[in-house]
Amino acid sequence: MRQASFGDIHIDRLIEVEGPGYAPNMFFPDATIEGFKGEMEWLLPHFWDVAAETYLRAIQSYVVRTPHHTVLVDACVGANKERPSSPSWHHLNSSWLDQLRAAGVQPEEVDYVMCTHLHADHVGWNTKLENGEWVPTFPNAKYVFHKGEYAYWEKVGYEAGGQGSQDGCFLDSVLPVMAAGQVELVDTDFAIDDQFTLDPTYGHSPGHVCIDLNANGQHVIMSGDVLHHPIQIAYPEWNSRFCVDADMSRASRTKFVHKHADTDTLLLPAHFASPTMGRIESNGERCKYQLADS
Ligand SMILES: [Zn+2]
Repeated sequence: MRQASFGDIHIDRLIEVEGPGYAPNMFFPDATIEGFKGEMEWLLPHFWDVAAETYLRAIQSYVVRTPHHTVLVDACVGANKERPSSPSWHHLNSSWLDQLRAAGVQPEEVDYVMCTHLHADHVGWNTKLENGEWVPTFPNAKYVFHKGEYAYWEKVGYEAGGQGSQDGCFLDSVLPVMAAGQVELVDTDFAIDDQFTLDPTYGHSPGHVCIDLNANGQHVIMSGDVLHHPIQIAYPEWNSRFCVDADMSRASRTKFVHKHADTDTLLLPAHFASPTMGRIESNGERCKYQLADS
């Protein structure tokens, strides 16, 4: 899906990067090739690259327009960021902002930016480079961050000789919007119009939240990184190598999969490859991902 509509609520998907990921057991240290191969019936063709022998993934954002608000969920890697420890992200300059405009949304029209968490691939477009300074990309937006997530990265964000963790993304993509007075630090009781609510799914990061949307009665979850790849629906015990609290991450993912299995809930994850949107279904002993029609 590139766009989905539920009555007068419209969701656009902005794709920054898409294609094969890392070696499977490098990104998912607990994964086995046999585990992946056992799920090929539903992983192919969208979520596994046979030639590359690895999984397919994307880095993407969602823009939700309601009659009252324009809400951006997650902000990808961004442009011109110094990310030497992730070479494919270093000085990246994708068509992401053009995709936003092509969807009919100008940066000035975004009134909320919500980050599921504050990793480098979720905060990048929060800021842009202007005259050598990082400034908010969305000048009229309120940026909504979970307060526990912010506190954690505020503490570790200054470490590593001033560069911070994750190549300093806290410094160049979070602090400037704080300095501009545009941040609202929230707890899990935060809501926008009773349409957007937060689901605490801690573990991948200390304050990771999924963003639940009531889209005129259709439950849609922008689920961030509680799941990186559909294989984790079959194996919720498989963490990514970037999960901060391994046990909590497994517990949150397992709970999430079971809670939403065999329901009408639609998922819009941050890293599922195209066409992305789908539901969790039982599949014998495990669960699987069933793509939605639209
Ligand atoms: Zn991510």
